Amino acid sequence: MGDLKVVHPITVPSGSVRAAAVVPALQGLVNAVVTAAETKLGEAGTEISCRKGCGACCRQLLPVSRTEAERLLGVIEAMPAKRLRALKERFATASAAIKAAGLAEKAGRADRELSVGYFALGIPCPFLEEESCSIHPERPLVCREYLVTSPAELCAGPQQDGVTPVPVPKVSMAARGLQDERESWFPLALLLDWAKTRPRDGVKRTGPEWVQRFLKRISSRPG
Ligand code: SF4
Repeated sequence: MGDLKVVHPITVPSGSVRAAAVVPALQGLVNAVVTAAETKLGEAGTEISCRKGCGACCRQLLPVSRTEAERLLGVIEAMPAKRLRALKERFATASAAIKAAGLAEKAGRADRELSVGYFALGIPCPFLEEESCSIHPERPLVCREYLVTSPAELCAGPQQDGVTPVPVPKVSMAARGLQDERESWFPLALLLDWAKTRPRDGVKRTGPEWVQRFLKRISSRPG
């Protein structure tokens, strides 16, 4: 992965499943890549400044793919009723703010203006509780890849000037289009909107086939 050598055992279902069933394996893989990047940085004497309780980056536009979204819906469905109610209220608030700003229809477009406009709204991720991730073990792949070495307060700046992200290979990008080549990403905060009209069909493959497909998508991406 980039200039990092990563050796990581992967366990996946042997039977035919949807891509969402291999997300835990992909989470482990991304964790291993991030750890390798952190180790390399530590050897160079640089420290990561991200700390528990700093949720500044959890107001950014977080792109999720269908594959990860299906996994997250399973996580949400397993929540106790009270927690689920509070979470749904936060999703509704976030969704209303995104739509009011006219950003919902721009989702799926990779452009800096969209990211800056979204961040300017200051919408906390619905999973953010007391400035910490309430689904930390299940957080999306892209959240795992975002670490910085610059002072934490810079992350809250409107243009995020001076923020120095750790150069982690963006393995998460390979999850986009994994289940279905035609799918587009959408902001995590619109997860419950997406769930209302989400596709119910989908190709099934064995776990090893999905992982091979994912790895192939990493190696075929430029950079
Ligand atoms: S899922 Fe968790 S880590 Fe990712 S943006 Fe939301 S609160 Fe932050």
